[in-house]
Amino acid sequence: MVADDFSAIPDDNIRPGKLDEFIGHDDLRANLKVFIQAARERKQAMDHTLFYGNPGLGKTTLAQIMASELGVNLISTSGPVLERSGDLAAILTNLSRNDILFVDEIHRMPISVEEVLYPAMEDFKLDLVVGQGPGARTVKIDLEPFTLVGATTRIGLLSSPLRDRFGVIQRLEFYSPEDLARIVSRASKIMRIELNADGALEIGRRSRGTPRIANRLLRRVRDFSSVRGQSVIGAEEASHALARMDVDELGLDQMDRKLLSVIIEHYGGGPVGLKTLAVACSEDVRTIEDIYEPYLIQTGFLKRTHRGRMATAKAYRHLNMLG
Ligand code: ADP
Repeated sequence: MVADDFSAIPDDNIRPGKLDEFIGHDDLRANLKVFIQAARERKQAMDHTLFYGNPGLGKTTLAQIMASELGVNLISTSGPVLERSGDLAAILTNLSRNDILFVDEIHRMPISVEEVLYPAMEDFKLDLVVGQGPGARTVKIDLEPFTLVGATTRIGLLSSPLRDRFGVIQRLEFYSPEDLARIVSRASKIMRIELNADGALEIGRRSRGTPRIANRLLRRVRDFSSVRGQSVIGAEEASHALARMDVDELGLDQMDRKLLSVIIEHYGGGPVGLKTLAVACSEDVRTIEDIYEPYLIQTGFLKRTHRGRMATAKAYRHLNMLG
């Protein structure tokens, strides 16, 4: 690698590979440690595990860590990719003993595919229908024991039969600025970026509680400071770069502010329906629901009511608008 081409460092290099490198979520980490150790001692597959929470909070990372700590293979797929039940059956029959099957966006799996999972999760068996019409019959195929690790941003969209079959269900919350500062400090060492504690905290404060965003901002801050000829990134350099990227001092980006200002300027502060809001902002409904809204609600800028979305007094103040 050329000395200054750090952007060539792939994301996988900064992804924690062990539970001890996973920052924050101490309770979740402690629990997983026990479950992993127990499964290892019994030489059994770990219980099926579901992680839910916003994109970029570490669900895939945890699945990879589980596989590595358990010393088993990780086979990854995602709900939308599994279009037919045969797709899933092919994956399941190829699993080795105690492997982890990771299904990202598991809420987007078609129901016909989901039904194949039930007996597989429960009894490690596959019910295959052979033939068609009146002559069709079901054959049961034994599978190797495995652990299904599901990840979803929308636990509410998971059917209850599927949800009930997970032995471990863990929610990933937004991270504190301090934990995000630790995450970017760790990443900066791997990427050989000189970032001091104040610089790390500045990035941590403005990363919408999300490690993936923190690491992305770190890369961009690095670009700005190297062009400005700064060798060490402190709070001032970080702040300058983040302002240039339109990330404000509370970490809201252009789209966050647009959403709030559209509600205030066009709809008198709300309530306004999600679909109308999506059209007014030229944004996809799901992107608003999955990515923007949760953080704006959590930080008290937006309220979800049964009649639609409303901007809060905090949003008016932040945007310098009169209520
Ligand atoms: P998700 O699957 O929830 O969308 P990922 O597991 O892909 O999120 O995480 C996104 C990135 O954020 C990872 O590449 C990893 O580098 C980083 N990351 C996530 N959680 C942590 C954590 N707790 N500690 C350190 N880095 C993390």
